Amino acid sequence: MQTFDFDLFVIGGGSGGVRAARMSAQRGARVALAEVADMGGTCVNVGCIPKKLYSYAAHYAEAFEESHGFGWVGEAPKFNWDTLKANRAKEISRLNSIYINLLDSAGVKIIKGWARLLDAHTVEVGDKKYTAKTLLVSTGGTALVPAVEGHEHVVTSDSMFDLDPFPKRLAVVGGGYIACEFASIFNGLGSKVTQIHRGEKLLTGFDDDVRDFIASEMRKTGVNLQLKSEVEAITKTADGLVIALKGGGSFTVDTVLYATGRIPNSNGLGLETAGVAVNAAGAIKVDEQYQTSVPSIYALGDVTARVQLTPVALGEAMVVVDQLFGPLAGKKPRGMSYDFIPTAVFTHPNIGTVGYSEAAARAKFDNVSVYRSDFKALKHTLSGSTERTLMKLLVDDASDRVVGLHMVGPDAGEVVQGFAVAMKAGATKALFDSTIGIHPTLAEEFVTMREPVQG
Ligand code: NDP
Repeated sequence: MQTFDFDLFVIGGGSGGVRAARMSAQRGARVALAEVADMGGTCVNVGCIPKKLYSYAAHYAEAFEESHGFGWVGEAPKFNWDTLKANRAKEISRLNSIYINLLDSAGVKIIKGWARLLDAHTVEVGDKKYTAKTLLVSTGGTALVPAVEGHEHVVTSDSMFDLDPFPKRLAVVGGGYIACEFASIFNGLGSKVTQIHRGEKLLTGFDDDVRDFIASEMRKTGVNLQLKSEVEAITKTADGLVIALKGGGSFTVDTVLYATGRIPNSNGLGLETAGVAVNAAGAIKVDEQYQTSVPSIYALGDVTARVQLTPVALGEAMVVVDQLFGPLAGKKPRGMSYDFIPTAVFTHPNIGTVGYSEAAARAKFDNVSVYRSDFKALKHTLSGSTERTLMKLLVDDASDRVVGLHMVGPDAGEVVQGFAVAMKAGATKALFDSTIGIHPTLAEEFVTMREPVQG
């Protein structure tokens, strides 16, 4: 019988890889994990976590502003970018250490360096070779900057957290999650932000009402949103970076952020050598069990480019672990469902969404009832803010099931998470109606919408 150095060798220490390595080791497997950079991947180092911390920082701007209506008097404190950067860096390195400690205490061997597949069971890191019964590729993704003239002057989201100095004038190119979040955050922190998006609406794939509503709200907060607009060229001058737009017009900024999508990190991994098939976009092809074209090699998370969200990679990791090393005692092996994945966009205000957009629901179901509420939150009766909140439900008339739930408003992600459980459980509109609201909250609106929108 062939013997291997490890039962499982994980390439990539992001959310999915760390979870798979740790949980496999806890089930008694001999596990190694190779990571070339800081432990935790995009989410911990240059994604979800620092982004959310900066979003909190940015929200103070409006909080100080709004406090006057509640009787608070005085000048707003001044923002210190260096303090935020230093505090964030300290917190992220604390998280890096926690990840390393969790892996260490589970018995995972951490190997620092770039890992390359040599064959179906062998990995090379530096000048060392390791064998494993199963290999797992969880190397994530990376930002893609199109070949626009002057692209060498732009940055991606990876660099936004440590910019020096703080960009007084920022251009953000793109209309997806990352572009909208960074436009909101830096606008809140005090940059003069211009967001350039090629489409007619932001956030392709989201409900159209949400897309229109967030554009209007972001504009109210001060983001200069240029829709149906594209960059022709970026030129460096003594005064900053000059952005020339297609069709004419130009303006000057200190920093240009390109947030135009991410591609799988599949280059240089030896995938071809090992015979692992990728699609035209470089994403590793996997079946429902996350097995690649080579039976002993698995892949999950952003490198498979299915749904690029941390909790999805975590869920996929648990499916792989249960499959390879069995579920925990008394538990069933987990499955992964891609239906009703809730998601939030940390714009100001936030977006929270789960289920179908109105257009997708109408395409899927014969008859759809739409419930919609657009209102000024109680808080803003005194705050002086003109911010409005949008809440929307989509109901499949045949089953009465709520198939779409959307919110633009404060803490929308927090609100939507709970409703996502109900929707996965197949909650009907009648069940929503019979649920007692919590008064006075924004969330109660979801259980008090009685009349569908006509027409
Ligand atoms: P997205 O795919 O969400 O958005 C890319 C944007 O760039 C789109 O608006 C797209 O326009 C535009 N675009 C693409 N190519 C070009 C081009 N050549 N020129 C101009 N514009 C272009 O990618 P992101 O980078 O924003 O985020 C990647 C993924 O990361 C997300 O899909 C999401 O899954 C995840 N993420 C999740 C977050 C969260 O959960 N809060 C936060 C951040 C990221 P068009 O729509 O016209 O194609």
